[in-house]
Amino acid sequence: MMLGPAIELGLEVTVLATGPAESAAQGAARVRIGRHDDEEAVRALADEVDVLTFDHEHVPPPILHGLVRDGLAAVRPGPDALVHAQDKLLMRERLTALGHPCPRWWRATGPADVEAALDDVAAEGADRRSARVVVKTPRGGYDGHGVRVVSSGEDVADWFTEHGELLVEELVPFTRELSAQVARRPGGETVPFEVVRSRQQDGVCFEVIAPAPDLDPAAQRSIQDLARAIAEDLDVTGMLAVELFETADGRVLVNELAMRPHNTGHWSMDGAVTGQFEQHLRAVADLPLGSPARTAPHAVMVNLLGGSRDDLAAGAREAMAQDPSLKVHLYGKDVRPGRKVGHVSCAGEDPEELLARAHRAERLIIEGRRSVEDQGGAATEENA
Ligand code: ADP
Repeated sequence: MMLGPAIELGLEVTVLATGPAESAAQGAARVRIGRHDDEEAVRALADEVDVLTFDHEHVPPPILHGLVRDGLAAVRPGPDALVHAQDKLLMRERLTALGHPCPRWWRATGPADVEAALDDVAAEGADRRSARVVVKTPRGGYDGHGVRVVSSGEDVADWFTEHGELLVEELVPFTRELSAQVARRPGGETVPFEVVRSRQQDGVCFEVIAPAPDLDPAAQRSIQDLARAIAEDLDVTGMLAVELFETADGRVLVNELAMRPHNTGHWSMDGAVTGQFEQHLRAVADLPLGSPARTAPHAVMVNLLGGSRDDLAAGAREAMAQDPSLKVHLYGKDVRPGRKVGHVSCAGEDPEELLARAHRAERLIIEGRRSVEDQGGAATEENA
């Protein structure tokens, strides 16, 4: 999704992809086939370019430190920043040391440490038998893989064998999840996007509303300031996404960080003057940052999560025909149940109406189903 904006900005992009079928490899003019954890492949790419950036956080830090040491390319974000998006234990340690608000957390090296965290939680009022904590693998998690809510250390015994150390967190009784994104250039200029609300199911984001409804201007500003402070403290270059929990008593706690364009920012591709992919490129190429202003009072984004149908094209065509102001983005990935294979977005006046339109298109594309109201009240039926 960076390729379109790169062409518009006149930037030449070379993609490192593990195979020719990867989405980015299908779209890029220049592709190197190789793995992101193969030092030789990454160094060969770095040798060819001025700036190296990422669309995921899985390049091993030693490889990136080697590039910086040898001056092969400017690595943006740099490895010392990126590690806080790669390792959730390091992220918690650093944010806590910097005084940024986090859930209560513990480092665990075995089931007994999880039991001790459960004791701590129970000591604060929860019944010990019903006490629960969230356990996370420090590295490699995504979309809820690597997150378990447990009531016993034995529930994650397998993970200790695999990962050694785990992150344990209090189960935050959040009222909603928010996300704050900010772009930062190498020289320190930052531009925040508006804070959005994201909704997840089983750890997977399915819907985003921009701006977050009913967030008062002071809270909006203080969350943007938090995101900016984290970007500065960690010396992030490019887009930073700060995923947050909002609690009933008005607290905002950092859940996790991503240092790249993020799912919760996809709305900006169609709903803001400058989309997050363009903004990331401007930031890492050290170009002036674009305006993050919304182009309508509200924008919504709904993810297309794979269902049982392989063919998304027929439903996508119908969604486009039904709603010409809605934008459909398909990623060219094989459909697997629950996999993010695209998203739809629309912008306008009324967030409820926007959500209804986006979900109608989503069902049409994923399931081939028209909603009842589209059929004049007839029973829902398979459409394709
Ligand atoms: P991933 O790296 O898979 O995105 P996250 O750490 O963001 O993992 O967790 C996925 C989801 O699990 C979150 O969006 C949130 O809904 C829930 N979650 C994570 N941590 C906590 C917590 N400490 N308390 C309550 N819910 C949590």
